Amino acid sequence: MKTKFIVICALVVFLATSVTFLLLSTGGESLSEPKNLSSYRDDLAVAENNTVSLSSISLSAVGDILIHDRVYENAETNNGYDFMPMLEAVKSEMEKADITFANQETVIGGTSIGLSSYPSFNSPQEVGDALKESGVDIVSMANNHTLDRGEKALQNAFKHWNEIGMLYTGSYLSPEDQSKIRTIKKDDITVAFLAYTYGTNGIRPPANKPYLVNYIDKQKIAKDIQEAESISDAVVVSMHFGNEYERLPNNFQLELSSFIAESGADIILGHHPHVLQPVEWINTTDDRKVFVAYSLGNFLSGQKNNYKDIGGILTLNIEKKKFRGETSVRVTSPSFFPTFVEKGYIVKPLNESKPELLDEINQHMSQWVPELNVPK
Ligand SMILES: [Zn+2]
Repeated sequence: MKTKFIVICALVVFLATSVTFLLLSTGGESLSEPKNLSSYRDDLAVAENNTVSLSSISLSAVGDILIHDRVYENAETNNGYDFMPMLEAVKSEMEKADITFANQETVIGGTSIGLSSYPSFNSPQEVGDALKESGVDIVSMANNHTLDRGEKALQNAFKHWNEIGMLYTGSYLSPEDQSKIRTIKKDDITVAFLAYTYGTNGIRPPANKPYLVNYIDKQKIAKDIQEAESISDAVVVSMHFGNEYERLPNNFQLELSSFIAESGADIILGHHPHVLQPVEWINTTDDRKVFVAYSLGNFLSGQKNNYKDIGGILTLNIEKKKFRGETSVRVTSPSFFPTFVEKGYIVKPLNESKPELLDEINQHMSQWVPELNVPK
């Protein structure tokens, strides 16, 4: 009896195992529908869509390159000019960023039309070569000295900038040149650069050549920003404004910067006062944070004392985030590296040249942005 029960049990187990095996071996193919190809593609799209993609680049900016006669006389060599010794000590800081901007305050019209100094500047073209060699990618040419030596100096300068592959903005060769908004693309982030000046020391461009310099004109600025936004991820607006030698922005700078921020700019780079003015975040009504440097001071110039020999390198990150088809860009991580123009017009890190001034300058620059990263 007991043996018969065991045999039956063994048979039941054998049969159950066989049926299960049969079901399993055919189940994969015949028991379910083949995977639909289009829904498979949809699955992939969802997977791509809900993955956050982040990229980030850095942007540096320096203030005025203002070449007085005493500066170019110091740079003279047997066969021209060499400004590299003046920038050598800060070159590594200048070229660190993915993109570097400078305010070229004096036109590099070159020796063929005769060099000149204040109040009507014309600088050696080698100034451009030294900036290029120091990692500068784009210069602003919209400032109160743009028309100092007229159209010939500008044409010489444009030719040289083009020859050495340096972008320029704010002053142009022709209406076509003016209509091409300058952009620089690093990784997958495109940055556009616009530039404007409050005036040109009483010299006006010929009536038929308004493209020679961009003046501050709110309507034009807003329109340009809109156009720049349509071809880039971030818009940098370079502004030549403010009162000379004043260490804080005036109401015109504050009001105009808030207008530019509201118009869609991401970064505002100010210059003209020849001394450093603090940096600030402007919170726009559409919830963006726009970074403004009201004045970056003199970077390389013949001016001395009362903070006129102090400048610096501002660095910001531009972050781009893509998620579910939406792209957003934000400016983060501001830092400032103060510099000092020593005897012989040698630009040095301030913490090496005048360490006793470092705390004061750090505090001055970061008074409205406590998180500003500065060298200790
Ligand atoms: Zn100026």
